[in-house]
Amino acid sequence: MNPVVIAVAITGSVPRKKDNPAVPTTVAEQIESTHQAFEAGATLVHIHVRNDDESPSSDPDKFAAVQEGVRKHCPGMIVQFSTGGRGRDPSARGLSLVHKPDMASLSTGSVNFPSIVYENHATLVTDLAGTMHKNGIRPEIEIFDLSHIHGAKRLIEEGLMDAHPHVQFVMGVKNAMPADEHLLDILLAETKRVIPGATWTAAGIGREQARVMGWALARGADAVRTGLEDNIRVTKDRLAASNAELVSLAAEMVTRNNRKVATPAEARAALHLKPVA
Ligand code: ZN
Repeated sequence: MNPVVIAVAITGSVPRKKDNPAVPTTVAEQIESTHQAFEAGATLVHIHVRNDDESPSSDPDKFAAVQEGVRKHCPGMIVQFSTGGRGRDPSARGLSLVHKPDMASLSTGSVNFPSIVYENHATLVTDLAGTMHKNGIRPEIEIFDLSHIHGAKRLIEEGLMDAHPHVQFVMGVKNAMPADEHLLDILLAETKRVIPGATWTAAGIGREQARVMGWALARGADAVRTGLEDNIRVTKDRLAASNAELVSLAAEMVTRNNRKVATPAEARAALHLKPVA
Protein backbone atom coordinates (compact mmCIF):
# COMPACT_ATOMS: atom_id res chain seq x y z
CA MET A 1 0.00 0.00 0.00
CA ASN A 2 1.01 3.66 -0.43
CA PRO A 3 3.41 5.11 2.14
CA VAL A 4 1.83 7.33 4.80
CA VAL A 5 2.62 11.02 5.17
CA ILE A 6 2.81 12.02 8.84
CA ALA A 7 1.61 15.60 9.25
CA VAL A 8 2.48 17.46 12.43
CA ALA A 9 0.40 20.44 13.51
CA ILE A 10 2.93 21.96 15.85
CA THR A 11 1.13 24.91 17.47
CA GLY A 12 -2.41 25.76 16.36
CA SER A 13 -4.27 28.74 17.71
CA VAL A 14 -5.69 27.37 20.95
CA PRO A 15 -3.18 25.64 23.31
CA ARG A 16 -0.98 27.87 25.44
CA LYS A 17 2.18 27.10 27.39
CA LYS A 18 0.12 27.00 30.57
CA ASP A 19 -1.73 24.02 29.02
CA ASN A 20 1.46 22.26 27.91
CA PRO A 21 4.89 23.96 28.17
CA ALA A 22 6.03 22.05 25.06
CA VAL A 23 3.72 24.05 22.74
CA PRO A 24 6.16 26.00 20.54
CA THR A 25 5.05 29.63 20.23
CA THR A 26 8.13 31.62 19.14
CA VAL A 27 9.66 31.25 15.69
CA ALA A 28 12.82 29.69 17.13
CA GLU A 29 10.83 27.18 19.20
CA GLN A 30 8.69 26.31 16.19
CA ILE A 31 11.72 25.58 14.00
CA GLU A 32 13.31 23.46 16.74
CA SER A 33 10.09 21.55 17.46
CA THR A 34 9.54 20.92 13.74
CA HIS A 35 13.10 19.67 13.35
CA GLN A 36 12.62 17.13 16.17
CA ALA A 37 9.31 16.05 14.64
CA PHE A 38 10.97 15.67 11.23
CA GLU A 39 13.66 13.44 12.77
CA ALA A 40 10.86 11.34 14.28
CA GLY A 41 9.23 10.81 10.86
CA ALA A 42 7.00 13.81 10.12
CA THR A 43 7.15 14.97 6.49
CA LEU A 44 4.53 17.74 6.57
CA VAL A 45 4.37 20.63 9.04
CA HIS A 46 1.16 22.62 9.54
CA ILE A 47 2.03 26.07 10.85
CA HIS A 48 0.20 28.76 12.82
CA VAL A 49 2.21 31.64 14.27
CA ARG A 50 1.70 33.52 17.52
CA ASN A 51 2.20 37.00 18.91
CA ASP A 52 4.50 37.54 21.89
CA ASP A 53 1.51 37.11 24.24
CA GLU A 54 0.79 33.70 22.55
CA SER A 55 -2.38 34.97 20.83
CA PRO A 56 -2.82 33.94 17.16
CA SER A 57 -1.01 36.10 14.60
CA SER A 58 -1.27 36.54 10.84
CA ASP A 59 2.15 38.21 10.52
CA PRO A 60 3.52 37.11 7.13
CA ASP A 61 7.10 37.74 8.30
CA LYS A 62 6.72 35.18 11.08
CA PHE A 63 5.34 32.60 8.66
CA ALA A 64 8.25 33.31 6.31
CA ALA A 65 10.79 32.95 9.12
CA VAL A 66 9.43 29.56 10.22
CA GLN A 67 9.36 28.38 6.61
CA GLU A 68 12.95 29.47 6.08
CA GLY A 69 14.11 27.58 9.17
CA VAL A 70 12.19 24.45 8.25
CA ARG A 71 13.54 24.46 4.70
CA LYS A 72 17.07 24.82 6.06
CA HIS A 73 16.91 22.16 8.78
CA CYS A 74 14.35 19.69 7.39
CA PRO A 75 15.23 18.97 3.74
CA GLY A 76 12.21 18.11 1.63
CA MET A 77 9.66 18.58 4.39
CA ILE A 78 6.31 19.89 3.12
CA VAL A 79 5.47 23.33 4.54
CA GLN A 80 1.80 24.11 5.06
CA PHE A 81 0.56 27.48 6.36
CA SER A 82 -2.75 27.75 8.17
CA THR A 83 -5.29 30.23 6.84
CA GLY A 84 -7.58 29.17 9.69
CA GLY A 85 -9.71 31.74 11.37
CA ARG A 86 -9.65 31.47 15.14
CA GLY A 87 -8.59 34.79 16.60
CA ARG A 88 -7.54 36.25 13.25
CA ASP A 89 -8.87 39.12 11.19
CA PRO A 90 -10.46 37.55 8.06
CA SER A 91 -8.77 40.05 5.76
CA ALA A 92 -5.34 39.04 7.11
CA ARG A 93 -5.74 35.27 6.87
CA GLY A 94 -4.22 35.01 3.40
CA LEU A 95 -1.39 37.52 3.78
CA SER A 96 1.25 34.83 4.35
CA LEU A 97 0.50 33.15 1.02
CA VAL A 98 2.81 35.52 -0.87
CA HIS A 99 5.62 33.44 0.62
CA LYS A 100 4.47 30.45 -1.45
CA PRO A 101 4.46 27.56 1.02
CA ASP A 102 3.98 24.13 -0.59
CA MET A 103 0.48 23.93 0.86
CA ALA A 104 -2.06 25.93 2.83
CA SER A 105 -5.14 24.93 4.75
CA LEU A 106 -8.47 26.08 3.31
CA SER A 107 -11.88 25.86 4.96
CA THR A 108 -14.67 25.80 2.40
CA GLY A 109 -17.56 26.59 4.73
CA SER A 110 -18.61 27.69 8.19
CA VAL A 111 -19.33 25.59 11.28
CA ASN A 112 -19.96 25.87 15.00
CA PHE A 113 -16.88 25.50 17.22
CA PRO A 114 -16.79 25.09 21.02
CA SER A 115 -17.23 28.79 21.80
CA ILE A 116 -17.43 30.62 18.45
CA VAL A 117 -18.90 30.35 14.99
CA TYR A 118 -16.02 29.47 12.68
CA GLU A 119 -17.01 31.78 9.90
CA ASN A 120 -15.84 31.27 6.33
CA HIS A 121 -17.86 33.49 4.04
CA ALA A 122 -18.14 32.23 0.45
CA THR A 123 -16.30 35.35 -0.76
CA LEU A 124 -13.38 34.74 1.61
CA VAL A 125 -13.18 31.07 0.53
CA THR A 126 -13.06 32.10 -3.13
CA ASP A 127 -10.43 34.77 -2.44
CA LEU A 128 -8.17 32.41 -0.49
CA ALA A 129 -8.52 29.64 -3.08
CA GLY A 130 -7.72 32.11 -5.88
CA THR A 131 -4.61 33.34 -4.07
CA MET A 132 -3.41 29.78 -3.51
CA HIS A 133 -4.04 28.92 -7.15
CA LYS A 134 -2.13 31.98 -8.36
CA ASN A 135 0.85 31.15 -6.12
CA GLY A 136 1.00 27.45 -6.99
CA ILE A 137 0.01 26.41 -3.44
CA ARG A 138 -1.77 23.08 -3.01
CA PRO A 139 -4.79 23.46 -0.72
CA GLU A 140 -5.58 21.13 2.16
CA ILE A 141 -9.36 21.32 2.45
CA GLU A 142 -10.53 21.24 6.08
CA ILE A 143 -13.76 19.29 6.20
CA PHE A 144 -15.77 20.14 9.33
CA ASP A 145 -19.08 19.27 7.68
CA LEU A 146 -20.34 17.29 4.68
CA SER A 147 -21.21 20.46 2.78
CA HIS A 148 -17.53 21.45 2.82
CA ILE A 149 -16.77 18.60 0.39
CA HIS A 150 -19.18 20.19 -2.06
CA GLY A 151 -17.59 23.59 -1.38
CA ALA A 152 -14.30 22.12 -2.60
CA LYS A 153 -15.96 20.62 -5.67
CA ARG A 154 -17.33 24.05 -6.59
CA LEU A 155 -13.84 25.56 -6.43
CA ILE A 156 -12.59 22.91 -8.86
CA GLU A 157 -15.50 23.62 -11.21
CA GLU A 158 -14.74 27.35 -11.03
CA GLY A 159 -11.11 26.74 -11.99
CA LEU A 160 -9.78 27.96 -8.63
CA MET A 161 -8.28 24.60 -7.71
CA ASP A 162 -6.93 21.62 -9.67
CA ALA A 163 -8.39 18.12 -9.38
CA HIS A 164 -5.99 16.98 -6.63
CA PRO A 165 -6.67 18.86 -3.41
CA HIS A 166 -5.62 17.18 -0.18
CA VAL A 167 -8.71 16.69 1.98
CA GLN A 168 -8.73 16.45 5.77
CA PHE A 169 -11.75 15.28 7.74
CA VAL A 170 -11.71 16.93 11.16
CA MET A 171 -13.55 14.93 13.79
CA GLY A 172 -14.17 15.47 17.45
CA VAL A 173 -14.49 19.27 17.56
CA LYS A 174 -17.25 20.06 20.04
CA ASN A 175 -20.43 21.33 18.29
CA ALA A 176 -19.11 20.13 14.89
CA MET A 177 -18.68 16.52 13.64
CA PRO A 178 -18.22 13.82 16.26
CA ALA A 179 -15.45 11.24 15.96
CA ASP A 180 -17.53 8.39 14.57
CA GLU A 181 -16.21 5.61 12.36
CA HIS A 182 -19.42 5.31 10.35
CA LEU A 183 -19.35 9.04 9.68
CA LEU A 184 -15.81 8.74 8.33
CA ASP A 185 -17.06 6.13 5.85
CA ILE A 186 -19.79 8.49 4.68
CA LEU A 187 -17.38 11.41 4.26
CA LEU A 188 -14.85 9.27 2.45
CA ALA A 189 -17.42 7.78 0.09
CA GLU A 190 -18.79 11.22 -0.75
CA THR A 191 -15.30 12.63 -1.34
CA LYS A 192 -14.38 9.75 -3.67
CA ARG A 193 -17.65 10.33 -5.53
CA VAL A 194 -17.37 14.08 -6.06
CA ILE A 195 -13.58 14.73 -5.90
CA PRO A 196 -12.09 11.44 -7.14
CA GLY A 197 -8.63 12.98 -7.59
CA ALA A 198 -8.30 14.08 -3.96
CA THR A 199 -5.80 12.62 -1.51
CA TRP A 200 -7.06 12.38 2.06
CA THR A 201 -6.35 12.28 5.77
CA ALA A 202 -8.34 12.56 8.99
CA ALA A 203 -7.64 14.41 12.22
CA GLY A 204 -9.11 13.44 15.58
CA ILE A 205 -9.14 16.22 18.13
CA GLY A 206 -8.05 15.73 21.73
CA ARG A 207 -8.57 12.24 23.06
CA GLU A 208 -9.93 11.14 19.67
CA GLN A 209 -6.54 11.55 17.98
CA ALA A 210 -5.36 7.92 18.08
CA ARG A 211 -8.77 6.40 17.38
CA VAL A 212 -9.36 8.47 14.24
CA MET A 213 -5.80 7.76 13.10
CA GLY A 214 -6.46 4.02 13.35
CA TRP A 215 -9.63 4.30 11.26
CA ALA A 216 -7.82 6.36 8.62
CA LEU A 217 -4.90 3.94 8.37
CA ALA A 218 -7.24 0.97 8.03
CA ARG A 219 -8.91 2.72 5.08
CA GLY A 220 -5.72 3.47 3.17
CA ALA A 221 -5.37 7.16 4.04
CA ASP A 222 -2.59 9.03 2.25
CA ALA A 223 -1.67 10.81 5.47
CA VAL A 224 -2.30 10.97 9.20
CA ARG A 225 -2.15 14.04 11.39
CA THR A 226 -0.83 14.52 14.87
CA GLY A 227 0.71 17.34 16.91
CA LEU A 228 0.08 19.59 19.86
CA GLU A 229 -2.44 21.73 17.95
CA ASP A 230 -4.92 18.86 18.09
CA ASN A 231 -3.92 17.08 21.27
CA ILE A 232 -1.61 18.01 24.15
CA ARG A 233 -1.72 14.64 25.94
CA VAL A 234 -0.30 11.17 25.54
CA THR A 235 -2.65 9.67 28.11
CA LYS A 236 -5.40 11.23 30.20
CA ASP A 237 -2.88 11.85 32.95
CA ARG A 238 0.28 12.69 31.02
CA LEU A 239 1.07 15.68 28.81
CA ALA A 240 2.96 15.01 25.58
CA ALA A 241 6.63 15.87 26.03
CA SER A 242 6.91 17.30 22.53
CA ASN A 243 5.52 17.24 19.01
CA ALA A 244 8.21 14.64 18.29
CA GLU A 245 6.76 12.30 20.91
CA LEU A 246 3.35 12.48 19.24
CA VAL A 247 4.98 11.87 15.84
CA SER A 248 6.81 8.81 17.21
CA LEU A 249 3.50 7.40 18.45
CA ALA A 250 1.95 8.04 15.03
CA ALA A 251 4.88 6.32 13.30
CA GLU A 252 4.42 3.27 15.56
CA MET A 253 0.74 3.15 14.69
CA VAL A 254 1.52 3.37 10.96
CA THR A 255 3.84 0.37 11.31
CA ARG A 256 1.34 -1.58 13.41
CA ASN A 257 -1.17 -1.14 10.58
CA ASN A 258 1.31 -2.71 8.13
CA ARG A 259 1.90 0.62 6.43
CA LYS A 260 5.18 2.42 5.80
CA VAL A 261 6.08 5.96 6.92
CA ALA A 262 6.71 8.14 3.84
CA THR A 263 10.09 9.73 3.19
CA PRO A 264 10.02 13.43 2.21
CA ALA A 265 10.33 12.51 -1.49
CA GLU A 266 7.53 9.95 -1.20
CA ALA A 267 5.37 12.45 0.69
CA ARG A 268 5.78 15.04 -2.06
CA ALA A 269 4.94 12.53 -4.77
CA ALA A 270 1.89 11.28 -2.84
CA LEU A 271 0.43 14.78 -2.41
CA HIS A 272 1.11 15.92 -5.99
CA LEU A 273 3.88 18.33 -5.02
CA LYS A 274 7.05 19.13 -6.89
CA PRO A 275 10.21 17.39 -5.71
CA VAL A 276 12.71 19.66 -4.00
CA ALA A 277 15.26 20.94 -6.51
ZN1 ZN B 1 -4.42 24.52 12.24
